[in-house]
Amino acid sequence: MEHRARKRFGQNFLSDPNIIRKIVDAIAPRGGDLVVEIGPGLGALTEPLLERLPRLHVVEIDRDLIARLREQHDPERLVIHEGDALKFDFGSLGERLKVVGNLPYNISTPILFHLSHFATRVREMTFMLQKEVVQRMVAEPGTDDYGRLSVMLQYRFNMARLFDVPPGAFRPAPKVMSSIVRMSPKPAQALDANDEMLLGEIVSAAFGQRRKTLRNTLRAFLDENDFAALGIDPGLRGERLSLAEYVGIANHCALRTSK
Ligand code: SAM
Repeated sequence: MEHRARKRFGQNFLSDPNIIRKIVDAIAPRGGDLVVEIGPGLGALTEPLLERLPRLHVVEIDRDLIARLREQHDPERLVIHEGDALKFDFGSLGERLKVVGNLPYNISTPILFHLSHFATRVREMTFMLQKEVVQRMVAEPGTDDYGRLSVMLQYRFNMARLFDVPPGAFRPAPKVMSSIVRMSPKPAQALDANDEMLLGEIVSAAFGQRRKTLRNTLRAFLDENDFAALGIDPGLRGERLSLAEYVGIANHCALRTSK
């Protein structure tokens, strides 16, 4: 029976064989890899991945799609985790995990933040997302796309936009362009924030009101003396600061409270 795409689960199924091949080549699965696919759907990526892997884990929320996958695949080779990827414990699968998927666009930001928690267990992640989201992920300071998503993901990952995918590659076709992004966790020694929660709070505050200056947005964290000690102009807006400057602010505040 034909599956009717469900909007609430962000279902746009890949149908272009050339694009599918290009994505699987970018994932470059090898025999011993531990791979999990988020949202296998009708299997556009799942099947070519299974051609190259002895075993694949998938996380899917749609029960109709799960029933289809169960009918079509040997459970020894396709391990189906039924449920919400936003609640899934990716750490439970093991170490050096490769996470892949054509992600449901309606939950792209929360899923990226959820996956950041497992960065130390992950070797690499390769995703399709809306082009606009990928531009925000890889954005540089001083640009319109640069924001909380850029700083918080760039803290944990090296990221590269690999190529774009037009709406015509999907059924049904989405309204927007998509891009493939690769995310590689940074080594532990590069994660130099003493208090990552505090870093998150500071970055959220700095970008909460984009038009306001740091003097206003970071009032709860820094006074004029702190800005002077850090060598940061309080008249700037949050979008001007680099990741290293945000980490510098967070470490300055963490040190001050621990004194
Ligand atoms: N991988 C397939 C493809 O490329 O054709 C389907 C991609 S479709 C954009 C997104 C998939 O994620 C759908 O199968 C959808 O049911 C599933 N999905 C949506 N929300 C989910 C969630 N919270 N947890 C797990 N899977 C989800």
